[in-house]
Amino acid sequence: MNESESTVEAFKASILAKLRYAVGKDPENAFDHDWFEALALATRDHVVDRWEEASAQLARQDDKRVYYLSLEFLIGRLLVDNLSNLGLLDVARQAMAELNVELERIRQIEPDAALGNGGLGRLAACFMESMATLRLAAHGYGIRYEHGLFRQAIIDGWQAEQTETWLDFGNPWEFERPEVAYRVGFGGGVTSHVQEDGGISQSWQPQETVRAIAYDTPVVGWRGASVNTLRLWRARAEENLQLDRFNAGDHFGAVAGEVRAESISRVLYPADDTEAGQELRLRQEYFLVSASLQDLLERHLRLHGDLQNLPQQVAIQLNDTHPAIAVVELMRLLVDQHQIQWARAWELTVASTAYTNHTLLPEALESWPVALMERLLPRHLQIIYLINAEHIDALRAKDIHDFRLLRAVSLIDEDNGRRVRMGNLAFLGAHSINGVSALHTRLMRDTVFRDLHRLYPQRVNNKTNGVTFRRWLFQVNPLLTHLLVDALGPEVLESPQTTLEKLQPQAEQVAFRDEYALCRRRNKEALAQLVQRQSGLLLDTEAIFDVQIKRIHEYKRQLLNLLHTVALYQAIRNDPTTDWVPRVKIFAGKAAASYRQAKLIIKLANDISRTINGDPTVRGLLKVVFIPNYNVSLAETIIPAADLSEQISTAGLEASGTSNMKFALNGALTIGTLDGANVEMCERVGEENLFIFGMTAQQVAARQRLGLEMGDVVADSERLEAALGAIRAGVFSPDDPARYVGLVDALLYDDRFMVCADFEAYWAAQRQVDKRWQTPNDWWRSAVLNTARMGWFSSDRTISEYARDIWQVPVPARDKG
Ligand SMILES: *Cc1c(COP(=O)(O)O)cnc(C)c1O
Repeated sequence: MNESESTVEAFKASILAKLRYAVGKDPENAFDHDWFEALALATRDHVVDRWEEASAQLARQDDKRVYYLSLEFLIGRLLVDNLSNLGLLDVARQAMAELNVELERIRQIEPDAALGNGGLGRLAACFMESMATLRLAAHGYGIRYEHGLFRQAIIDGWQAEQTETWLDFGNPWEFERPEVAYRVGFGGGVTSHVQEDGGISQSWQPQETVRAIAYDTPVVGWRGASVNTLRLWRARAEENLQLDRFNAGDHFGAVAGEVRAESISRVLYPADDTEAGQELRLRQEYFLVSASLQDLLERHLRLHGDLQNLPQQVAIQLNDTHPAIAVVELMRLLVDQHQIQWARAWELTVASTAYTNHTLLPEALESWPVALMERLLPRHLQIIYLINAEHIDALRAKDIHDFRLLRAVSLIDEDNGRRVRMGNLAFLGAHSINGVSALHTRLMRDTVFRDLHRLYPQRVNNKTNGVTFRRWLFQVNPLLTHLLVDALGPEVLESPQTTLEKLQPQAEQVAFRDEYALCRRRNKEALAQLVQRQSGLLLDTEAIFDVQIKRIHEYKRQLLNLLHTVALYQAIRNDPTTDWVPRVKIFAGKAAASYRQAKLIIKLANDISRTINGDPTVRGLLKVVFIPNYNVSLAETIIPAADLSEQISTAGLEASGTSNMKFALNGALTIGTLDGANVEMCERVGEENLFIFGMTAQQVAARQRLGLEMGDVVADSERLEAALGAIRAGVFSPDDPARYVGLVDALLYDDRFMVCADFEAYWAAQRQVDKRWQTPNDWWRSAVLNTARMGWFSSDRTISEYARDIWQVPVPARDKG
């Protein structure tokens, strides 16, 4: 028996042992889920072995530790991720095959860990993987939501939200750590004490305390380089059952406290881009922050014994403002619990903390009513007032008295019923504030943080997002990966960032382009099968697969794409003999449950889909599909099958985007605006290899000053007028002809997102797409060059920049091979 055969034999034996002793089944009676569990547990053994080694290694090196705090981690499935990063994927496939079980089927059993809404949460997951690959001593901290993001069903064309139950069958990847528990307080009051030296100290007596229990998930880096820990907190009641009440017959009252406490980790907050405005959300944010900071201070003291060197040993990264209360909690812990002088505590806090901004949308910048903060976190409000007073005093001391400026940079918004501004708090309490693309960072300096940036010009910096190529190329596109290894050697698996560019000469080789196109064809067939299984619809894999998958939001402009769809439909009907390029329009995405306009857009997509797909006069030249329940796993099937990637947000509004990167890496051509990271993609991929259209951020701002009435724009475009007219008249909604009157009128009279204003440019760019498609040599040359030139958008590059510029931790040299 050779080495690989014996590895397969050993793995097989391990799977069978898990099936028997951990799952309690024999192979004859095992369901698919039992096989999944046995395989996951067998895989986990390998993970744990590496985890132990990696932890010991980290402890020996004693490097500065990075703590990534995020309310969201959009992880997806882990089985193939772990197998692939450990180099065991082929072994597992073979072992399962010998047990007469198909890995491809079993892997689909795993539920997605959907502890996030969209890009921000997915970024956190990509970063965790890159940090393990780069062997940084990094810990992720989040909340173990019992119910992740809702499952989307489409009923009658409308979105229906259903509870996600990812934990129903247990979670083989996590380890409960009941011994790692911290108390997190809420409410109550603050008392002052005079100390021996005459100073005054404050102590907070919370009215209510909740316990945070740790659940650890190992995160495996590429080739098992390192295994880091994602620690998710679950909320438990201090006392599970009030026995006296229960015995007195009050069965519900006896568990009320438990229900209240545990609701903190019950559900992911169902919006990523609107002001939360709910007490439970603030409780979640503080819960995560308090437990994580207590935990990291405990570790720091255990390893180093002294808090004075905190910034030398600890880097805390805040993923958006959601965990921004960390600035205040760290001050409270240092001053109230560890008796560090206020001024010194502030130095330590700022030097340890960094903040990533993800949005410029004013309605998405978090702020909390002062009254709520006072009721829930009274000591924190005191600290906020003190930080603010010192901040404003310092400005006055620098002879800054401009009233407007002082109001703008204050931590308290006095204009909207007194609120605490979490963005300003995060800015003041951090030594680094980063945007996530070059354009976004520039706009941050000019808009939301204009005044604070002028006061602290060193703090704002850019870290353009990236994605992990292990998941978003190697795992999702094995065919292309195989082709790349053939063309570039196995080195491409180790350092795609630098190796992919060597593919450029292949773009000129007909034989290579053909093989590249063939991979796409196979991926399209797989997607077509999925669509057929789900909806019965047959897709023509010769057609352009034109894809827009992302959260449904007005600024992302699914409406612009739908207007193009309708206009194209009308054009084909009016002129059926032209040689139209066949298209399949593919949409997927969830709308926040409370976002009515977004939900109406989903209904419109489904109405348009039903009408067009049912119209024989278009002869299948145009098909429209809305695939329900967009999540990481669905993205993994759709992205490698896409020919055209729709990245068409109103310029200035998408901070970065990351799906744009996943698509281009897999060779889809982008049709997009100069927004977010599209700008940098265009620079690197070459503008001749994407389709850029529409207004720039600057032009959008100028157009907005002119007003949002679009009568003239619409009158100038027959196509647009006809498309809007048909939707408004109920052509796609005969059951309720007035359904879209309001939606269309909003576009005509109050077009905040410039849908009408960009329509003609978009139409023209789409015709360029058709033209390129009709010259396959040109199309596939561009596609290959996209793959070849996307190396820079690896999250390894992004993380290396965070490490160098923000965290100041060395990235250990990679040992290759
Ligand atoms: C990458 C990704 C996103 C981010 O998509 P954008 O188009 O950049 O907003 C959102 N959701 C999932 C599931 C993803 O994989």
